Amino acid sequence: MHLKNQIIVNNVIDFLLSLAAEYLKAKKVIGVTGSSGKTFTKEVLNKLLPDSFKTPGNMNTEIGVPISILNEYKGQEVAIIEYAMNKKGDIERICKIIKPDVGIVLNVGRQHIGVAGSFENIFYGKMELFQCSDTIIYNADDEMMSEYVKTINKPKISFGIKRGNVSLLEWNYTASGKTKVRYKIFNEEKKIMLNDIFHRGHLLNIAAAVAAAVAAAIGTSEKICWKCLENIKNVKGRFHWKNLGKIRIIDDTYNASLSAFDVAVETMLKIDAKRRLAVVGPIFEQGWFSKETHERLSKILEKLDGVFVLDGYEGSEYIKPKNVIARAKDKKKLARKVVNYLRKGDIILFKASRGVMMEEVLCIVEEMLK
Ligand code: ADP
Repeated sequence: MHLKNQIIVNNVIDFLLSLAAEYLKAKKVIGVTGSSGKTFTKEVLNKLLPDSFKTPGNMNTEIGVPISILNEYKGQEVAIIEYAMNKKGDIERICKIIKPDVGIVLNVGRQHIGVAGSFENIFYGKMELFQCSDTIIYNADDEMMSEYVKTINKPKISFGIKRGNVSLLEWNYTASGKTKVRYKIFNEEKKIMLNDIFHRGHLLNIAAAVAAAVAAAIGTSEKICWKCLENIKNVKGRFHWKNLGKIRIIDDTYNASLSAFDVAVETMLKIDAKRRLAVVGPIFEQGWFSKETHERLSKILEKLDGVFVLDGYEGSEYIKPKNVIARAKDKKKLARKVVNYLRKGDIILFKASRGVMMEEVLCIVEEMLK
């Protein structure tokens, strides 16, 4: 049937991508991918480069990217685009048509491994962004990535802890909840004070963003707004710290992965507290690897003073750290146990995969503590 106002195309998605590529007039496109930290990195880049557009929220698929460009791009000089993948080929499909000038791969973890099938599929899936980009920004702490980029003959900038072109040298937390950071950016040292608590992962994301911003600003750091970084904040659900009376809560309920648990726990250990506690649920989409992932999670959690486990979800049964204080299937019941245990001076982390909706437990705890 041929309707009025109808455009017939061979492939709707490729058409949508081409339309968005045509519409996008940015001088530079920065592509961001990685297993964790994409949202935060886009936010940092958006602050560093004031005349920039970023794809919002989770609009990171072959449909989300073009739709957000067509609906929201307003002619900014730089476009920051998140390229997401579930399987090999996903990133290539988007970036062949909407081509990045600068491509960042933040890290490669085991998120969605149950869907991707293997770590190699995740790794090579993400490397597709490097194949499409003119300049590549890579993680010097990741050995496999550092080896892989040797095979690509393109301009490269690296970031890492005490290594790479943009390196994170040192970071500390103040009693009032700020992060003091020292970076080396090429040959120059830079100290920044950030008005919130940021973990190692965040600080590396900032290093990656700085590297990309310098590359996108055609090698100069003049257009980069360093001061704009000072007031960057963690949003609700994403490693967001708040005080409830004399108890500090970390709301990290938005999602979970092993590496995000690792940096969260590491940061808690660096901060002054009477006891460090966590209320946790499982990491989803681990498929055959679920048992192993949760055993590794249990080891990470054992560094804390006590853990509360939310049961009844796929993978909960494998969360068995030695320091479990209580476990329950019912969110209210678990919240009551948490509240009865909490004391002045404690820090407590709430974290699980999105589907668990750990924010419901946090909400009950907050109500009870009022
Ligand atoms: P994404 O958009 O890739 O899902 P977010 O910026 O929303 O990433 O962060 C999701 C979770 O990952 C949060 O818990 C955050 O604290 C954690 N995170 C962010 N960056 C990193 C990193 N570089 N390494 C480990 N965990 C990270």
